[in-house]
Amino acid sequence: IKAKQKFQKPTRKLPIRLDGKVLTKENIVEPMRDIRRALLEADVSLPVVRRFVQSVSEQAVGVGLIRGVKPDQQLVKIVHDELVKLMGGEVSDLVFAKSGPTVILLAGLQGVGKTTVCAKLAFYLKKQGKSCMMVAGDVYRPAAIDQLVILGEQVDVPVYTAGTEVKPSEIARQGLAEAKKKNVDVVIMDTAGRLQIDKAMMDELKEVKRALNPTEVLLVVDAMTGQEAAAGNSFLSIFNPWSQHSTVEIGITGAILTKLDGDSRGGAALSVKEVSGKPIKLVGRGERMEDLEPFYPDRMAGRILGMGDVLSFVEKAQEVMRQEDAEDLQKKIMSAKFDFNDFLKQTRAVAQMGSMTRVIGMIPGMGKITPAQIREAEKSLKIMEAMIEAMTPGLFIFCCLKEILSTKS
Ligand code: GDP
Repeated sequence: IKAKQKFQKPTRKLPIRLDGKVLTKENIVEPMRDIRRALLEADVSLPVVRRFVQSVSEQAVGVGLIRGVKPDQQLVKIVHDELVKLMGGEVSDLVFAKSGPTVILLAGLQGVGKTTVCAKLAFYLKKQGKSCMMVAGDVYRPAAIDQLVILGEQVDVPVYTAGTEVKPSEIARQGLAEAKKKNVDVVIMDTAGRLQIDKAMMDELKEVKRALNPTEVLLVVDAMTGQEAAAGNSFLSIFNPWSQHSTVEIGITGAILTKLDGDSRGGAALSVKEVSGKPIKLVGRGERMEDLEPFYPDRMAGRILGMGDVLSFVEKAQEVMRQEDAEDLQKKIMSAKFDFNDFLKQTRAVAQMGSMTRVIGMIPGMGKITPAQIREAEKSLKIMEAMIEAMTPGLFIFCCLKEILSTKS
């Protein structure tokens, strides 16, 4: 009995009533607390976390449990899906103009990585076969213009400059005219950042926007800002009242989240969408020119929750484990009638989930198993499968007898 108790002892403390078949108000309390902690650790702001936790808890109660999946894992899946939905669901692609050059206007506070993004974006689009031109409009930080020229040389994309004495809206007009003359596909304009957003910055942006009539106005946000993104005196807090102007006057169409290679777990991504209502289109993951990629809400949700890939595991289990099979199997195990054919069925169900490397990789804490060990196990399973398939009951008895005799000798 002791051994049985030990065996049944859950590896993680779960206040789940194991007799239940649905998630209930009671059994989600503790996992929800973990999730709340994970979100706060990922730097999602407290009001956003509160709203989110409440809405998810309401949704989760009453959801049926899937066989073979722990209730807390299933709850994490619901939370994950909700996070993905909150961050826009799908990848949000850049929009291109139907005729004439596509114009992308970048806005953001000083130091967020705007100038770097300008060149990264040019490089990113160039790889997609588009010809680009950058316009240096950050006239308040003289080094910004030189920085953009140097980066332009690095990625081999022309940069239009007009010095620091010309108004940004005028630079925009000249740059656009030059781009049209050269027949380039995409014009990307770097604008001046400030330490904090003020009326002068807003007015200037509005003027630049009028001069350019951009296809995309992208707000560059530093992921390291974390909670600050939705609180205190940061850019996005003013983005809230600003967004009222912005929809009408600035018309932000999306955001680029930079410095995701840092320590931050990406909570800012959630705050950006919550506060601005606009999708994140791209993310910066380093200082190199190639470190820019589309924003995948599902990957970000996984990063925010920091819970391994439990979610894919739950999803795969949902696909593979048909309810009746699971119930049938459970009965057989309980009555000690689990035979080689059942074993084969299970092995195949696991195989449907992908290679063993992938399946094991989805389970948190299994990272220590080496690929060589996994390959060896996979090989053994294949041999066993072939042996079971090749056997008739008679042959099986013969093999057993042979095995018994050889061990005796
Ligand atoms: P701006 O003032 O907004 O134009 O900012 P900069 O483009 O000059 O970038 C500020 C600093 O952040 C520079 O040292 C960049 O190299 C760095 N930076 C920009 N993007 C990233 C990123 O995605 N990851 C990291 N680690 N650093 C970045």
